[in-house]
Amino acid sequence: MEKQCEGVAVGIDLGTTYSCVAVWLEHHSRVEIIHNDQGNKTTPSYVAFTDKQRLIGDAAKNQAAINPANTIFDAKRIIGRKYSDPYIQKDKLLWPFNVVSGVDDQPTIVVQHKGQEKRLCAEEVSAMILMKMRKIAEAYLESPVKNAVITVPAYFNDSQRKATRDAGAIAGLNVMRIINEPTAAAIAYGLDKKSNCVGERNIFVFDFGGGTFDVSLLTIKDKVFKMKATAGNTHLGGEDFDNRMLNYFMQEFNKKNNVDISGNSRALRRLRNACERAKRVLSYNVDANIEIDSLFQGIDFCSSITRGRFEELNMDLFRECICTVNKCLIDANMDKNSVDDVVLVGGSSRIPKMQQLLQEFFNGKDLCRSINPDEAVAFGAAVQAALLSEGFKNVPKLVLHDITPLSLGILIKGDLMSVVIPKNTTIPVKKKQGYSTSEDNQTVIKFEVFEGERARATDNNLLGWFSLSGIPKGPKGHPVMITFEIDAMEVARLIQEAKDYEAEDKKFLEKARAKKDLDDYVYKMEKSLKDIKKSKGIITDAIIKAKSLLDGDVDQHEKDVFEKNLKELQKIFDPTMPRFKY
Ligand code: ADP
Ligand code: MG
Repeated sequence: MEKQCEGVAVGIDLGTTYSCVAVWLEHHSRVEIIHNDQGNKTTPSYVAFTDKQRLIGDAAKNQAAINPANTIFDAKRIIGRKYSDPYIQKDKLLWPFNVVSGVDDQPTIVVQHKGQEKRLCAEEVSAMILMKMRKIAEAYLESPVKNAVITVPAYFNDSQRKATRDAGAIAGLNVMRIINEPTAAAIAYGLDKKSNCVGERNIFVFDFGGGTFDVSLLTIKDKVFKMKATAGNTHLGGEDFDNRMLNYFMQEFNKKNNVDISGNSRALRRLRNACERAKRVLSYNVDANIEIDSLFQGIDFCSSITRGRFEELNMDLFRECICTVNKCLIDANMDKNSVDDVVLVGGSSRIPKMQQLLQEFFNGKDLCRSINPDEAVAFGAAVQAALLSEGFKNVPKLVLHDITPLSLGILIKGDLMSVVIPKNTTIPVKKKQGYSTSEDNQTVIKFEVFEGERARATDNNLLGWFSLSGIPKGPKGHPVMITFEIDAMEVARLIQEAKDYEAEDKKFLEKARAKKDLDDYVYKMEKSLKDIKKSKGIITDAIIKAKSLLDGDVDQHEKDVFEKNLKELQKIFDPTMPRFKY
């Protein structure tokens, strides 16, 4: 396979709620999922702005309750979409941060940072998360990380993929490839290696994350991955289970103490966090405890929940998932018995009841669960990243082809869709196509770019338009060549801004560190002075004793008397002194 880069390359699962980074370790011939500075292997896809600094990951999520308007999440739901997209308009009602329409109908997130208004596009926010993931990897590998394979949902259209690629560039990464999340998961389970068997291998990927549920049916034949069908629910995920549990405990607290906490966002956030933790515990324990000091009006909250009760609270949601699985198979016109592998992906697919229902649906078939589902996507991306890098001999060889999910084309006379890049084309791809003027003396041609499979261009999804001017006057039929490519100017500006942010963060951290060092030192000095004061009497007595020894008849004593006295002094004095050492 053609190698695209030199140096370390990582795989990044840029999730809606959590992100994960992994790397292929050549010496150990295995993938390592890299933990962050909090020791967690997944990092919240959150970015927050305060009066003083920018926070990313756990730090951003942890302060969300006290700073909701300036804590951004769900950038993945915004990226590559227009502001007027009904999907954005609907989600906007749920976001505590402000999203407005920017240049060219681009959704723009408006926050307050250091007392000033800051406007950001989704690419920039995603870039900040990618930068954090890059830093997590660099801290672990103790070397710079320049290259990455980034994953996206199978249904992401071309503009969403391009915007994700741009986010990578803004984060200073060479994005070697954008691959589909279900494909990455299939690679993680090594299913591509089984595909040498005769015919196609049908793989069902069940991805149940924090805020989305995606199922995909893909086939592997001769090492080529093809997406057969996708289905899902864009607003169903782990957060719904957290909310159900939150309501359950809120009622209990209200009943026990005769107070209503529903209006207190801080109490709600603390209880919701505790619920998320309890939910995770219930995936391996049959019960979980909740303990929160001073939850509301100084009242502590202690309670517990059984796995059975948790399942009861969410059974309708689990069943809804199974209906979606069935729908996907119907869409693909495939019998469930024809599915060769069922792959579990996403943190919520760890829930035992969900696994049980899924296994029952597939008539007791074993589910692929040897890899942590919330790490499978990053795992596969890391394998792909190694394959595209120089010098890895041990990485399992495979040829991976991801494909464009929809055709890309230009509107031509008669509202016809002239396809430039057909559906199922292996990506990455860059294509040129010739067109010609349709009227005499035409000097400008307007090109409208559409995405979709309908013959009438306007029945497809309009991605954007551009004009080509400066065509010399002449009879119609003058040839022009069109190439599909990204707007490098805009990306260049955002790359610079990201660098500025990084420099600002560095400055902030350095200042914070210098302040802490001085603070520590002053503290130590004060402590030493206090110790000296406390033992002043003893020290003075010891000095007097030593001086009288020195001032007395020195000849009268042997060497060891002086040595002994010095030791005695040191014993008294030294414990106060080392604190001055720094
Ligand atoms: P994303 O949707 O961003 O891709 P993930 O696949 O990492 O995110 O899924 C995150 C969700 O998985 C969160 O709601 C989290 O609470 C949930 N989760 C993680 N671990 C477990 C677990 N052991 N049991 C149940 N849910 C879990
Ligand atoms: Mg995911």
